[in-house]
Amino acid sequence: MTTKYIACIFCAIVTLREQREKTTSAENGRIIISQIKSVISKRLPDLLPGFKSLKDSRNRKEYSMEELLAGALFMFIFKQASRNAYNNKRGDIIFAKNYYRHFRLRLPHPDAIDQVMRDLPPEFLEELKAQLVSHLIEKKLFRKFRLLGKYYLVAVDATGIQTFKARHCEHCLTKTSKNGVVSYFHYVLEAKLVTSSGHAISLASEFIENLEHRDFDKQDCEQKAFVRLAAKIKRHFPRLPICVLADGLYPNETTFSICRKNDWRFIITLKEGCLKTFNEEVGLLKATAKGRSVYRASKTTRTLLDYKFMNDIQYNKHDYSWVSCIETVTHLPEMTKKVQQFVYITDLPLTPDNVVPIADGGRLRWKIENEGFNTQKNLGYELEHKFSRVSYNAMQNYYQLLQIAHMINQFAEKSRDLVLLTNAHSKQTIKDLWEKLLTFMASIPYTEAQLQEFMTG
Ligand SMILES: [Zn+2]
Repeated sequence: MTTKYIACIFCAIVTLREQREKTTSAENGRIIISQIKSVISKRLPDLLPGFKSLKDSRNRKEYSMEELLAGALFMFIFKQASRNAYNNKRGDIIFAKNYYRHFRLRLPHPDAIDQVMRDLPPEFLEELKAQLVSHLIEKKLFRKFRLLGKYYLVAVDATGIQTFKARHCEHCLTKTSKNGVVSYFHYVLEAKLVTSSGHAISLASEFIENLEHRDFDKQDCEQKAFVRLAAKIKRHFPRLPICVLADGLYPNETTFSICRKNDWRFIITLKEGCLKTFNEEVGLLKATAKGRSVYRASKTTRTLLDYKFMNDIQYNKHDYSWVSCIETVTHLPEMTKKVQQFVYITDLPLTPDNVVPIADGGRLRWKIENEGFNTQKNLGYELEHKFSRVSYNAMQNYYQLLQIAHMINQFAEKSRDLVLLTNAHSKQTIKDLWEKLLTFMASIPYTEAQLQEFMTG
């Protein structure tokens, strides 16, 4: 066999492999776009008609409302979350054509999108988001994740989304450093439906903001925003059986009375030094606490969960329950141990049978931080990016569209097809897949007929 012949075979193998990789990459892209389309059409059929029906106060109407809002929404769905990145994609003729072929919508100029974002009252998109989530709940998509077969777990927490060196708008919160430097920022209080499978779906959002008529000279804060957020949740989801999950800032009479009034249950982190008389009584009665232990083993860990609970502990003339879980995780093969304790106050009466799901339900609060805020800040959605440097209104509208886009992607990413593509054998991450999606959208100049054949075959 000559060297030339071997080189030829080698080249052919390399070309074949490259072709196969290209085909696999395109196939992956096709699967992802199919899933996104399927989520929008089957799970959220009111989304695009909802965009169409939003009030349109523009004089010049080069693009439809649906095209403009979908343009911003897809900036987040494609995880191209800056107007620059979006504009680069829009300038790519093949990408724009493929986008049109898939969604029958044009990609508008980002300035046209921004104008609508500035003009549209933020409550419009917030209401549309609530309608979409109501539909998902009616379709029983979260039913199997309910606590005790009844309560939807709703985690509440605030997060910072923007910081500015100079005043951005009249609603900015302000902070003065020790050196006297003032910074301006925005926080939002979120209520997210969380599940053990890792969903974190925005139910309602309340911006923590300074408004003259609201608080005289005092700044708004998370606790005040919670009162407004709770009213919003009740208005949008009046009959939803809810169990509120919240951190150590929330065990107080305001929270308890809001939950009582709305007929919501709660599981709230209880820190030492908080609710003094309640904690004192817990201290006195600890020896009488009932308990239950659970042992869980995996390939790499051995976990012992030691639950203790007490009922009928009075605080401000109402009875509550106390629950503690001490978790000891032993990591194999080193046998190193990690011990953590989680303590909650709840209005759910505890028994040896329900203490495990209730305490474990309390720990799902973490999902709002991890699957919620962290994903939206660091995994492609750029929650802290300054989408509008001048308009508070636009900032809120981009925020709502980001929430809807993240909801769509969560369903797509948890679909059976995408879970198969990211399983342990494939070594592909969601980030890898989204790169393939963008390559698929940008580099394959399908004709209409080829596209139809590819999408159906
Ligand atoms: Zn501002």
